[in-house]
Amino acid sequence: MNTAETKIKKESINAVHELDSLFKPKSIAIIGASSKELSIGNVIIKNLVHYGYTGKIYPINPKEPEIRGIKAYTSIFDVPDNIDLAHVIIPNKFVPQIIEDCGKKGIKSVIINSAGFSEMGEEGIALQKAFLAKAKEYGVRIFGPNCQGIINTDPAFKAYCDFTFTFPEPGAISIAALSGGVGAFIMQSLFDLEIGMRMYASNGNACDISISDVLKYYGEDEGTKAIILYTEGFKNPREFMETAKSVSRKKPILAMKSGRTEAGAKAAASHTGSLAGVDIATELIFEKTGVLAFNNEEEMCQAAMAFATQPIPKGNRVGIITNTGGPAVIATDELVSAGLVLPPLSERAVTILKETQLPEATIGNPIDVVATGGGKHFRSALDVLMEEDTIDSIFINFVSAPFTDTDDVARNIVEVNKMKRKPIVCNFMTNMSIDRFKVTAKILKDGGVPCYSFPTTAAKALGALYKYHKVRSRNIGEAKIFADINKSKAAEILNSGFRNKDLGIKKNSTQIPNPESQILNPHFLTSDKVYSLLAAYGIPVADWRLADDVEKTIKAANEIGYPVVIKADAASLVHKSDLGGVAVNLKNSDEVRSVVENMKKKFDAEDLKFFVQKFLPGGRELIAGISAQRDLEPLIMFGIGGIYVEVLKDVVFKIAPVTEVEAEEMLSSIKASKLLDGVRGEKGIHKQSVIEIIQRLSQLVTDFPEIQEMDLNPIMAFEDKAFVVDARIKI
Ligand code: ADP
Ligand code: MG
Repeated sequence: MNTAETKIKKESINAVHELDSLFKPKSIAIIGASSKELSIGNVIIKNLVHYGYTGKIYPINPKEPEIRGIKAYTSIFDVPDNIDLAHVIIPNKFVPQIIEDCGKKGIKSVIINSAGFSEMGEEGIALQKAFLAKAKEYGVRIFGPNCQGIINTDPAFKAYCDFTFTFPEPGAISIAALSGGVGAFIMQSLFDLEIGMRMYASNGNACDISISDVLKYYGEDEGTKAIILYTEGFKNPREFMETAKSVSRKKPILAMKSGRTEAGAKAAASHTGSLAGVDIATELIFEKTGVLAFNNEEEMCQAAMAFATQPIPKGNRVGIITNTGGPAVIATDELVSAGLVLPPLSERAVTILKETQLPEATIGNPIDVVATGGGKHFRSALDVLMEEDTIDSIFINFVSAPFTDTDDVARNIVEVNKMKRKPIVCNFMTNMSIDRFKVTAKILKDGGVPCYSFPTTAAKALGALYKYHKVRSRNIGEAKIFADINKSKAAEILNSGFRNKDLGIKKNSTQIPNPESQILNPHFLTSDKVYSLLAAYGIPVADWRLADDVEKTIKAANEIGYPVVIKADAASLVHKSDLGGVAVNLKNSDEVRSVVENMKKKFDAEDLKFFVQKFLPGGRELIAGISAQRDLEPLIMFGIGGIYVEVLKDVVFKIAPVTEVEAEEMLSSIKASKLLDGVRGEKGIHKQSVIEIIQRLSQLVTDFPEIQEMDLNPIMAFEDKAFVVDARIKI
């Protein structure tokens, strides 16, 4: 046993945790052990033995005296010793009784591999409830059901409590996967990449021990350096957020992300409220809690290789060493798009390199040691970059030139890598069918240098390390609490003034009824309440009046001052301008009169009123909104607004409460963020006003979670201020 292993062993034994009985069992009973080769009850025993499980195995089978040469017991009560963990692989209907037995025997954790529970309808749900009640009564923790199990590669345990077929070497990456299929192939990928693995957990129905529990456990496990997570939505998003937030501060969590742009697009295509909550929320949860989201599984596993071996960079400044031109160009593109920069070398560095490199070498960043460069040239370049204060990480492009001693190059890279001063990734380009280069690759691999066979893959991995640096050092601060708001006034408004949805809906209305919202009988606030509510929370609105006939409308327009905008106002009119319900830039009372008379003819809604508003031309049209989520804080949206919101689909979301830093990030993360600064002589907008609107919205919805949906579209943003000119609120 090497010193690292001894250290792991010591830590493993010292740690005391509720889930130790699951991950560090000293004895395991297999309830439903079978002598049939092709059965789970047999494979699990086979795997435990094959992997070298260090504890005791107790097969439980009423008929067989022994299974795979191990003494079997009729029941767990016949086992003379304590049992830490039990596998349950029996038909579903016997499970509640068995859990009770486990409880009586003092077993702390049970992995239920059997299926036939909540995934199987009524009867299954009832059985799951029944065994959970027993588990609670006896304090037994349940992993699963309908799951694979766990693996702990720690040499002190070697617990392969799973029926899969990949036998990983001990390593530093732990996997938590809801889906066994995904978990298994990720484990296999790490195995193929020869990364090694620390722990594995795939919990299927996750009726008791959750992904969050596993994450917390990995967070506290000294041997786990990085975590790979695969989940399909969250049973308890709030619990997950809390856990992920604290664990991600300590160690990187890598996870797959779900189609952000699609969901974002879907969201914008309708309005803030109808966005597909779960899909988009998953990614927002990752972002808010510092989980590193990946576009595909391969990229994630490749990045894991860098996390397993390398320190986290202290910044975004990378130095490149290459012995061939083109791949360094490709790598540079990828590195730059990941937010890294290539600073120039110091005078000191240039002087040393001029003395140590070949005359044909290019001294700069990248340092091109050229294809004839050997071990000492790579070494001097590495040493120089390690000493540069302006360099945080090193990217190596290494092609196995047949006329150089590639092993010597590899050994030099390894020696520097072992110092672990700055992260190194290596794009090693070679022909692995040539024995000589296989040896070189092995030197690099054994020396803990993460090697990739494409410059982009290597660059992405380094990009991920940098992203984690940002996660760890990001401080979004606390959400601001505005004191100048009138909460009681807002409460009063929200408790009254609902717009009856059925009122005034025309038979041939273009509004598509939403079946769900009809069930929930939503209430839309009337316009006057909407604008009063915004005002109560200090959100600036364009000067407005609401009138119900021609004369009152003209009077209102005179008071506001021309030019004005008139909007037909009725419950049935959602997208007013589509229906000809918005008339802008009216310059006098005659124009107002003719517009109002026309609208009266066009819209025969009983509740038709006329919303008169100051005309505010020339602003940038933005959108902000709110969408309530089940089991999660509401989402706040921001983007490019106006009537083109559906076309542009340039919106971003965050989970409330949104801090000032996050609101700023929202402005800078839309695709058209440059528009906000002004382009081609156009003036930029007053960003601070919009940032404040977003924060006030966040406070409003945090104070009043009964707000289901809210769209401020558009917010007219000008050089010095911003006003809401159209808003809709659903309670
Ligand atoms: P809807 O979204 O129901 O169609 P809006 O009130 O958002 O109706 O108006 C549609 C468009 O009319 C806005 O996107 C904006 O271009 C313009 N508009 C509306 N109100 C004003 C205003 N007060 N000043 C300037 N332009 C306005
Ligand atoms: Mg609008």
